[in-house]
Amino acid sequence: MEKKNVAVVGAGLVGSLHAILLAKKGMHVDVFERRPDLRKAEVIGGRSINLALSHRGFNALEKAGIADDIRSISIPMYGRKMHDKEGNLTYQPYGKDDEAIYSVSRGGLNQQLMNLADDYEDIHYRFNHKCLDINLEENTIFFEDTQINKELNYSYDHIFGTDGAFSAVRGRLQKTSMFNYSQDYLSHGYKELVIPPNKDGSHRIDKNCLHIWPRGKFMLIALPNLDGSFTVTLFFPMKGATSFESIKTKADVKQFFNETFPDAVPHMPTLETDYFENPTSSLVTIRCNPWNYEDKVLLLGDAAHAIVPFYGQGMNSGFEDTAVFSEMYDEQSEDMLKLFEDYSNKRVPDANAIADLALYNYIEMRDLAGDEDFLLRKKIERKFSDLHPDLWMPMYSQVTFSHIRYSKALEAGKRQAKIMDQVMEMKNIYERWDDEVVMEKIKSLV
Ligand SMILES: Cc1cc2nc3c(=O)[nH]c(=O)nc-3n(C[C@H](O)[C@H](O)[C@H](O)COP(=O)(O)OP(=O)(O)OC[C@H]3O[C@@H](n4cnc5c(N)ncnc54)[C@H](O)[C@@H]3O)c2cc1C
Repeated sequence: MEKKNVAVVGAGLVGSLHAILLAKKGMHVDVFERRPDLRKAEVIGGRSINLALSHRGFNALEKAGIADDIRSISIPMYGRKMHDKEGNLTYQPYGKDDEAIYSVSRGGLNQQLMNLADDYEDIHYRFNHKCLDINLEENTIFFEDTQINKELNYSYDHIFGTDGAFSAVRGRLQKTSMFNYSQDYLSHGYKELVIPPNKDGSHRIDKNCLHIWPRGKFMLIALPNLDGSFTVTLFFPMKGATSFESIKTKADVKQFFNETFPDAVPHMPTLETDYFENPTSSLVTIRCNPWNYEDKVLLLGDAAHAIVPFYGQGMNSGFEDTAVFSEMYDEQSEDMLKLFEDYSNKRVPDANAIADLALYNYIEMRDLAGDEDFLLRKKIERKFSDLHPDLWMPMYSQVTFSHIRYSKALEAGKRQAKIMDQVMEMKNIYERWDDEVVMEKIKSLV
């Protein structure tokens, strides 16, 4: 049988992994990327940006055979460490014993995926190729080769759009009939800052947790890097009395941080410069449906579902897209139209669920993570789950440490929240939270 000739548009995290999984199925894959090759010396450098990789992401990397390679260049974070205004610390484990989420360099992960893809004869990268449009009748993609300023076009059996939140491939589908699309910006944006390493290269604060400075309407977080630094992100209102708009001078930055995140400031010697040199970026939720156009075009990753980063699941869900596609392909590769349609029908509700969960988690992280009631709820849930793992898996664990469908995790989470509301109403719950009677009550409600 002749090899299928397919295109992957966008060589980011999801596109690079998808290309590998397609090549493993015996397809010939051309991968188009508008940027230059990020492995080339002149492109490497700049700020370290990291991401939290968890079970779903590793599961997909496993299929590509590089989960262990990536684990070896990542730092496990076993829980959240909350910093209050007085510098007091509260620790909350993410899961059981050695369950962790892993901080990994975005650029390092992307490079590893590209290096691995290079081992496949059937994968060809074409950098500096910006997708401009697609002719859906002929399945032809139009590109601008940005190095020679020339328009080129190529035709394929199938086209996979992995070109991120502002996808050109999706842009073409948006002009077709019955394609639903929505885009919602959060009123908050973000800015990346840094905690550099100590002189001896060690981390200045505990490297095995995700640090959060929850402040009600906004928050600061920090994730560790292998070089001893932390990538720090300020999530903050774009406009208003206390916002990116209201902070105008280096003195404003200093005053705001000193008042709001006093224990972080001594670790951020370049704070004021970084604040004004680094961009302020927006956060958007993008939903669309269907993710396919006939059996010609299919969207994956942020191109299909951009979500806010507060559950650490954007990339993980994109990686899961490729893994699910790969599994479904093994079951029904004969009928590609059915496969594309079934895939879209299956994944859209899951993407919508994680989009909702991610929006909710912003409130949990910035507001509730420092709230006593909330911390007690989590403690009770943990205790019950330890006693009855078959009856209760906390929603965070379902999302982060399992591959239970996101839509199912969301449903279970809603049921659990109702039960916990009743438990928190129990008399003297602060004193007797781990009593047998509390555990029995939960059991009866489950
Ligand atoms: C602040 C922040 C923190 C995050 N933290 C986490 C986290 O901890 N965990 C997690 O799982 N997720 C996280 N995410 C989400 C994660 O970054 C994305 O979900 C992930 O990068 C999506 O991968 P992708 O390959 O689909 O898209 P992208 O990474 O955006 O890659 C798209 C690629 O397509 C290329 N491209 C774009 N347009 C064209 C075109 N017209 N032609 C050709 N190529 C094109 C781009 O250059 C890029 O290389 C975070 C996101 C943000 C903003």
